[in-house]
Amino acid sequence: MSTVPELLVDVNCAVGEGPSWEDRDQALLWVDLIPGDVYRLSLTTGGVDRMRLERPASAVLPRVSGGYVLTLPDGLYALGRIEQGAQLELLCPVESELSQNSINDAKCDPAGRLWAGTLARGWIPEAGSLYRIGADLSVTWVLGGTTISNGLGWSPDSTRMYFADSAPGTVDAFDYDVATGEVSRRRRFADLAADVGSPDGLCVDAEGGVWVAVFRGSAVHRYAPDGTLDRIVAMPTPLVTSCCFGGPDLAHLYVTTATVELPPDERTVRGAGALYVLEPGVQGLPTAAFGG
Ligand code: CA
Repeated sequence: MSTVPELLVDVNCAVGEGPSWEDRDQALLWVDLIPGDVYRLSLTTGGVDRMRLERPASAVLPRVSGGYVLTLPDGLYALGRIEQGAQLELLCPVESELSQNSINDAKCDPAGRLWAGTLARGWIPEAGSLYRIGADLSVTWVLGGTTISNGLGWSPDSTRMYFADSAPGTVDAFDYDVATGEVSRRRRFADLAADVGSPDGLCVDAEGGVWVAVFRGSAVHRYAPDGTLDRIVAMPTPLVTSCCFGGPDLAHLYVTTATVELPPDERTVRGAGALYVLEPGVQGLPTAAFGG
């Protein structure tokens, strides 16, 4: 494998999103948000499973007790297996009383709490919020005033949380108390100029580097822990949505992409909306599973 992104699964996702690594079975999970397709690539067999939910889904994550959790617009759901016909079970609603709002990106902290941000249809400014869902399925409102809530991640020592809002084009850092899930001392970590693209999903490597998918930017950026942009991985398609470490020794970086804003005749070309992989030369942190 190369340090240059390689096309891995050519699926023309409208909005490939929410990738996560399932260490127990050496599988990469992701979704296509708009049709609500859940994908699972087994590195053991090379096979790709797909389940169509017929409802939008923004992220898929492994669950400690087995199976998976999925974020749908109105809440957090459990799924036993990724197979057509498998039943979704609602674990807890999130802003289900706000019909204009839906859950966007979601990720678990190292203690197994799930964090998920919401956004309002039409990207109404500052109409979204960020929530924390405990293993006991309690839903805690943490932060308001977000617009396009996106990437979430934690530093290797779990003392810092990262959070991207694509509308202002910012990635913020918080101090993080992993014992309680409390955040404090919000500050700017990275600020992307509009002509560079928008920060979307993100993940963190074992050295504390923060890898940010740059939507409309044909790139993944790596920021050092002090916020310095120290690497740009050029991607062969512009709508880069998210990234996740996985594979043997967590040495591979998987990158999801989208076709949704491309001109219609470019949406079905090879590599648009596909899953990519590269070997960035640094190990990643594992995907934390949901503890509930
Ligand atoms: Ca996203």
